[in-house]
Amino acid sequence: MAAAATPPLLLLLLLAVALPAPSHGWGVDGHLMVCQIAQGRLSGAAAAAVRDLLPSYARSNLSSLCSWADDVKFRYPWSSALHYIDTPDGLCAYSYDRDCKDEDGVKGRCVAGAINNYTSQLLTYGRSSATQYNLTQALLFLSHFIGDIHQPLHVGFTSDRGGNTIDVHWYRRKTVLHHVWDANIIQTAEDDFYGDGVADYIDTLTKTITGEWSEQVPSWEECGKNQTACPDIYASESITAACDWAYKGVDEDSTLEDAYFSSRLPVVNLRLAQGGVRLAATLNRIFG
Ligand SMILES: [Zn+2]
Repeated sequence: MAAAATPPLLLLLLLAVALPAPSHGWGVDGHLMVCQIAQGRLSGAAAAAVRDLLPSYARSNLSSLCSWADDVKFRYPWSSALHYIDTPDGLCAYSYDRDCKDEDGVKGRCVAGAINNYTSQLLTYGRSSATQYNLTQALLFLSHFIGDIHQPLHVGFTSDRGGNTIDVHWYRRKTVLHHVWDANIIQTAEDDFYGDGVADYIDTLTKTITGEWSEQVPSWEECGKNQTACPDIYASESITAACDWAYKGVDEDSTLEDAYFSSRLPVVNLRLAQGGVRLAATLNRIFG
């Protein structure tokens, strides 16, 4: 039967939907880790506000909607510039005034500006001025963007779009450098070390935060006096890590395997942990 040889249209459509879109952030697992680490560190007031703002289908689980901001990039095209920052090629430094703008040069439209904006919106929680905002969306955007700004290549060079135009091989698979940092390093770590998947990985990071890293954690949480959000600190750290680790030693068509994986995984783990700790610290400052 001729029709049987052709894949049904519906199946093709489903496959198209299931394929990963080019991304500007940690993959689903990276965001899930950041949000889950954060939710375990919330104050009573912040935990209550988060539960109140989450839609009921999230069942009070922030991490279940931590990739929502990636899912709505097409529904809200204005939001796609809010996932990253493009910095000048080769400079390895970030400046809000110079770099936080979209491709049309509109100031403040970058991940640091978005973190400031959604923090200000959430500060109206419980006040009459809150009604002008959708605070559920503000919470989901903020939770996602604090994750994104910790992905080193979210604060990457303009001409290669944060490694999105650098073709590489991750072991034998063709990909781009940006995706290696969004997802491949995390996935390989899960395959190699965490037989039970992402929950096991989160558990390990959480234990390291309260163990080996516990003395550094207060400095991660710090934000300037009277400041609620500190995205500029995180962006500066990311472009430094992008230069020192992500871009380092990588050329067009490089093959990245064990040596790159084992030397970069500690950086990924640190950034995921810092993202989670800082998302919690920010929400705790917002909601008291
Ligand atoms: Zn993103």
